[in-house]
Formats: sequence, structure tokens, C-alpha cells
Amino acid sequence: MTQTTETLCVQGGWKPGDAEPRQVPIYQNTTWRYATSEHMGRLFDLAEAGYFYTRLANPTNDAVAKKICELEGGTAAMLTSSGQAANFFALFNICEAGSHIVSSSEIYGGTYNLIAVTMAKMGIEATFVPSNCTPEELEAAFKPNTRVVFGETIANPALAVLDIEKFAAAANAHGVPLIIDNTFATPVNCRPIEWGAHIVTHSTTKYMDGHGSAVGGAIVDSGKFDWMAHADKYPGLTTPDESYHGVTYAEAFGQEGAFITKATAHLMRDLGSIPSPQNAFLLNLGLESLHLRMKQHVANGQAVAEYLQKHPKVAWVRYSGLPEDEYYDLAQKYLPNGGCGVVSFGVAGGRAAAEAFMSKLQMISIATHVADARSCCLHPASSTHRQMTDEELEAAGVAPDLVRLSCGIEASEDIIADIEQALAAL
Ligand SMILES: *Cc1c(COP(=O)(O)O)cnc(C)c1O
Repeated sequence: MTQTTETLCVQGGWKPGDAEPRQVPIYQNTTWRYATSEHMGRLFDLAEAGYFYTRLANPTNDAVAKKICELEGGTAAMLTSSGQAANFFALFNICEAGSHIVSSSEIYGGTYNLIAVTMAKMGIEATFVPSNCTPEELEAAFKPNTRVVFGETIANPALAVLDIEKFAAAANAHGVPLIIDNTFATPVNCRPIEWGAHIVTHSTTKYMDGHGSAVGGAIVDSGKFDWMAHADKYPGLTTPDESYHGVTYAEAFGQEGAFITKATAHLMRDLGSIPSPQNAFLLNLGLESLHLRMKQHVANGQAVAEYLQKHPKVAWVRYSGLPEDEYYDLAQKYLPNGGCGVVSFGVAGGRAAAEAFMSKLQMISIATHVADARSCCLHPASSTHRQMTDEELEAAGVAPDLVRLSCGIEASEDIIADIEQALAAL
């Protein structure tokens, strides 16, 4: 029986047996006891499923990963300690020195640095293309050593909506998978696998947790990429892993399980970015209300964007739910129930006016965080990007007057009232 997103948010993942805890239990242990070394040996050989050490896997984490897997319509999933770790693991699971990545240029700054700086130091190169590029421009970004295509459903902070089908078609034409970071849309508003994505990642720190309580990430595999058909490109999945008793992941775990098993058995073992089971438990509490919260975030984002658009002290507004927005048509296609609660806008008067506006806010707090139950906002030019000149900011696509406002789940009239009094004070 396939269940709706709403029901999966509440009931997905943990399925207690008779007389077992109704809520997912927190397995607050590092290790497991076995009666014989021979039994444990079978686990190490991956010949039998089971737990032995929380650095690789833990039942609480797995139950929560299973819920996210069901929500995204995937075949296997894992949690990571952060969204950064999720994107790194997803990329590094299929890239190595000499590989090349094609990525949308409108992506989260941390992911941009990960790909453009840190992975470059590992010998992995990348080409960035604007998300609104033509199919020809996208095609031109590929090289013989391209191993993966990357993009975000709704880019943070650019709020560009990705044409997932365009990126999937290019990836398929080159026989490489498409990874989509679905953090801002969440599976409540978009399921990228249905549009051709092969792997989906999340910073669960944002809407999924929703309460600003736990940093975390997730990777979901669609099971739809045929690694064996492109065996020469992905030796890590299609040839024996001598560091893991000679297992060939794509043969032993099939198309549905190979990617996540390798990321667990190999990357989690060596890099150890596992979330604490306590954090997975908190994430699950957040997921239980994700479907309700997303509705309110979207309603508030839309109401605030419409209010701002009419205000004389507001220079411009970016929100894909506005018919005038550059991404409105893509949003209608990929996000028919709305995108997210993040709105960006410019305060008339530039950098100084934006800074003054922020200082007048009362309920809406200044925070680097986004996608929280509490409304918060950020003026990049005076905080995260403060070392840059106005010219440098424009070149980076961050206008000096830009305010990123993350609408929470309060009543929209209270959010608007706070914005109104802050604008009136300018
Ligand atoms: C925040 C964010 C990340 C990084 O996640 P962390 O949990 O902060 O490590 C990655 N991608 C997107 C789209 C994000 O918003």
C-alpha cells in the first residue's frame, strides 16, 4: 500500500513489532555484543545485515533514514552528520582524482566551496553552469571524465528553481547520474526522483528538523542508475573493493542498494560523519510535522512576498510564487503546491538601508539560519559577505541591498506587521 506524503511524515520509517516502543527508540550505544566471532565476521563480510559499531550505522539513524527514503520514493538512504557531509559523500562516492563534476552555479555557498575548492584539492575538477542555461550550454560543460551532475531544486540563497528534467536529460545523455539537493523544497513540495534525479541529498538542519535543534544530512538513492552499464566510469561500485573483503557493491547489493551500501561501508567507515542517534531522534520529531509546517511556510512566504512587492521602500522581490518572478513557470511545474518560505528582497537605499531595516526588526531575528519555525533574516552584505565591496557583491550575485527573509510558521499578519514597522522607521 503506497501512502501519501502526509502519512509518511507521521508513520514512515520505524515500524514497531508486537510490544515494541511506539516511538523510534534511541540506540545510545557505540557497539553491539555477539556470541561468536564467526557471527561478527559475517557482518564484517557484509554477508549478513546487522550492527556492530555506530560509526558505520545505528538502528535509530536507519529508521529515520528509511522515513526520508519513503518520502523521496527511493530504494535506500542514509543519514549524515550534516548537509555538507551528505553532499560530499554523495559526490565522493562516485568521483575520484581525475573525475569531473558538472554543477549548476546557483547552489549553496558551502557546497560551492566544497566542490570548487576542497574537492579541487583532491584532483576532482568542476564546471559550473547557470541553472537557466540552454541545453547546448549545458551540453558544452561535459567532458569525457564527467562522472556526475549536481543542482539544487530551489537554490539557497539565489532562490532559482532548477529545470530538473533539463539537467536529467543531459546527465542521461552522458551516462552519469544527477544528484539533486532538495533541502529547500523538501519531499513535501517536490520529489526530484519523479523528474529524473538519480540521487537526492538534504541538509536536514533546515525544514526537516525545522526547530533549529540538530545539524544533519541525508542521502537517498533512487535505485534507477545502472552502474554496471557504465562500469568503466564507476570502478568503486563495479569492481571488487579490496578494502572491504573484495565485495563488488553493484553485484552484491544490486542497482537498488549499491550506492548507499558503499557510502556506508567505505566512506562512513573511513570518514566517520555519522549523526548521533539523539539527533536522528530529534530529526524524526521534526519530520512528523513537516507536511503541516511546509504549508504554513509557503503561505507565509507568499503573503510576505506579495506585501513586499507593493511596498514603496522595497526595490525588488524574488519569490517563485509571484507571477512576475523569473522562475514562476518552473515553479508551477516542479512546485505546484509552493516552494518554501524563503523570500529575498532589496531595501530601497542599498546596503545602509538594508542594514538599518534589519536593526529595526523586533520579532524576526537576525540569524545565519534559514528554514526554521521562527522567522529569521540575514543581510549578507553586512554579515556573511561583509568583507566584499558593492562591486564584488554584485559579481557574486548577492546584491548589497539583499535581505534573505526566512518566513517561519507564525501568523503572516505578525510577520508582515514586524516588516511594516521596520520599513516605516527608515
Ligand atoms: C544548509 C545547506 C547545506 C549545508 O547543510 P549543513 O547541514 O549546514 O551542513 C547544503 N545545501 C543546502 C541547500 C543548504 O541550505
